[in-house]
Amino acid sequence: MPFNELYGSNAFGDSVMRDRLPKAIYKEIKAVQAGEAELTVEVAEVVANAMKDWAIEKGATHYTHWFQPMTGLTAEKHDSFISPTDDGRAILEFSGKELIQGEPDASSFPSGGLRATFEARGYTAWDVTSPAILNEEGSCKTLVIPTAFISYNGEALDKKTPLLRSMQAISAQAIRVLRALGNTNSRRVISSVGPEQEYFLVDEKYYASRQDLLFTGRTVFGALPPKGQELEDHYFGKIPERVAAFMTEVNEELWKIGIPAKTQHNEVAPNQFELAPIYGIANVATDQNHLVMQTLKKVARHHGLVCLLHEKPFRGVNGSGKHNNWSIGTDDGINLLNPGKTPGENLSFLLFVSAVIDAVDTYAPLLRLSAANAGNDHRLGANEAPPAIISIFLGEQLQDIFEGIATGRPVASSEGHKLELGANTLPKLPKDLTDRNRTSPFAFTGNKFEFRMVPSSDSISGPNFVLNTIVAEVLSGFASKLEGAKDITAAIKEIVTDTWKKHSKVVFNGNGYTEDWVKEAAKRGLPNLKSSVEAWPYFAKEDSVKIFTKHKVFTKEEIHARLDIVLEKYSKQINIEAGVAFEMATREILPACVDYAVEISGQLETLGASGVKSDSLKSRLSEIMSLVEEASAAAAKLDAARSAAKEVSDPLKQAESCRDSVFAAMEAVRAPIDRLEKLMPKDYWPMPSYEDLLFRI
Ligand code: ADP
Ligand code: MG
Repeated sequence: MPFNELYGSNAFGDSVMRDRLPKAIYKEIKAVQAGEAELTVEVAEVVANAMKDWAIEKGATHYTHWFQPMTGLTAEKHDSFISPTDDGRAILEFSGKELIQGEPDASSFPSGGLRATFEARGYTAWDVTSPAILNEEGSCKTLVIPTAFISYNGEALDKKTPLLRSMQAISAQAIRVLRALGNTNSRRVISSVGPEQEYFLVDEKYYASRQDLLFTGRTVFGALPPKGQELEDHYFGKIPERVAAFMTEVNEELWKIGIPAKTQHNEVAPNQFELAPIYGIANVATDQNHLVMQTLKKVARHHGLVCLLHEKPFRGVNGSGKHNNWSIGTDDGINLLNPGKTPGENLSFLLFVSAVIDAVDTYAPLLRLSAANAGNDHRLGANEAPPAIISIFLGEQLQDIFEGIATGRPVASSEGHKLELGANTLPKLPKDLTDRNRTSPFAFTGNKFEFRMVPSSDSISGPNFVLNTIVAEVLSGFASKLEGAKDITAAIKEIVTDTWKKHSKVVFNGNGYTEDWVKEAAKRGLPNLKSSVEAWPYFAKEDSVKIFTKHKVFTKEEIHARLDIVLEKYSKQINIEAGVAFEMATREILPACVDYAVEISGQLETLGASGVKSDSLKSRLSEIMSLVEEASAAAAKLDAARSAAKEVSDPLKQAESCRDSVFAAMEAVRAPIDRLEKLMPKDYWPMPSYEDLLFRI
């Protein structure tokens, strides 16, 4: 199929709706999407019918309300369009009510105590702004309707609901500011997101024989081969043929459902890659990122590969993250973070950037915890991803502008810098307003902020509802000042100056990976929340509850429920990892080591009988056996630590116990085992090595 026919062919997007809906209904739906009209059952009825016809023409037999429960995955329950008639035949039906609302039995999804198991009722509600798609699993075709998932009492049980609420909050506050600045045209402010997705690929024949990858998505043992990523020969290198074929299929699948997959390249670590789509409205981008992750996983299997989305599948090489590119813009096309040609004079731009600086500094722990998960604990602060300290990279020029305004000195002109590349044949490139700083967790990159802490496997809902809410809160303060101002220019300058004086401590343009920065950040009073368990409790602190409830993103109960859910999930995950490590050690690795030791003993005996002495063999035998003893003892301790953590009933205390004792006990098993791997002949090692996993596809 030619590309232009392929793109969006399986999405019930805008053009399909325009073609298939009566004009009046189409207009009505656009108004609902813009938040300017309520969806009526009559309109839903017509849309449902058109959607059903479209899906059935394409071969669908079922539809599903698709949602994002707190498991972090997505959920779906399929219903067929079939409706039996009295005379023993069947017709295909799909009503407006079925489109708008579903009622899955919700008792088995995490609710953090918001709902007892016997109160099973939950609702899914159609997200009118995110296009329905046709999902194809071989010959099984399903109409997939993106929905939000709420309890009987309206509490959010998913990742989408708070995101939608936060989008409304930031729009309301940003519009207040824009009105105060004299903008009377824009009706809404939209938060947009472009997530860059990193992932690993491994050959499925190796994957299948590693219990750790199968159950936890990461290796709990494994010694690095002589070559890792030090030559930096993988980053942006030539994409291997097998991977290119995989990427081609991924792109086609994504384009079909209207996801604008744009860039792809080799990442830093061996067998690590990245995919980025063109940015879109935050909730749609969040849905689409889930679909990207699912598509990567599904298509990999067609190529005999497995896609690993875990943040740290391998020790010793870089892990994976997501760069969450975020901006806010008006419905009539103004990007509020676009500096224009003369940022120093662009007061609206300076005002909105000030709001982001203030929000990120004031609510740094919230942003930090929005990127927390068990997998990311291996990355943040290690020498690869941004450190766990939140700081903002503005770039020299912007920093200079802010400093100039704050101190009242004239700001240097920013006009027309050209970059001389030193060769006549190369075009002159316009110099970007900012250089790149790969070490910054939160970087201004031209007309957006790039939040780089986000974990590769998680929904991007959290980082974005936090960003939207904290910026909304600051904007609401700005709006109150501006609405009463007599001299608006003076008022803006005062806000920008104040912000810089109070919050420039969060701005840092240097290398975020150095020890010096950790010290400097401590001096500046910036929080350094090293682990997820340290960060999460900030979610329920008074300040957080205040802003989330004020902007109607969460109720206090929803916050506490969510906190319990993430803590419990963390403990379960560490518990599974520990169980896997224990089993692999005691049932696979150590028995293999003992087998080998027995064989060496036999060899020593045989050699001895013929009067040959072998000190090297002898010392290898004793080294192996002493490591086996060390690992066995550590495994027993791990088992005990795991049982002890399971007994702790308070979710926070349990998570702390998992982090402090179970995790440490796992490390104690890993150390001797990784050394054993290097002492044992390859044939004796009972599972594929890092060499197989990282270098053979
Ligand atoms: P970089 O190379 O700086 O990472 P790219 O242009 O490759 O930037 O963009 C990375 C991601 O950011 C892409 O998904 C892109 O669509 C997205 N993006 C670009 N502009 C914006 C914007 N204004 N708001 C949100 N995302 C954006
Ligand atoms: Mg980027």
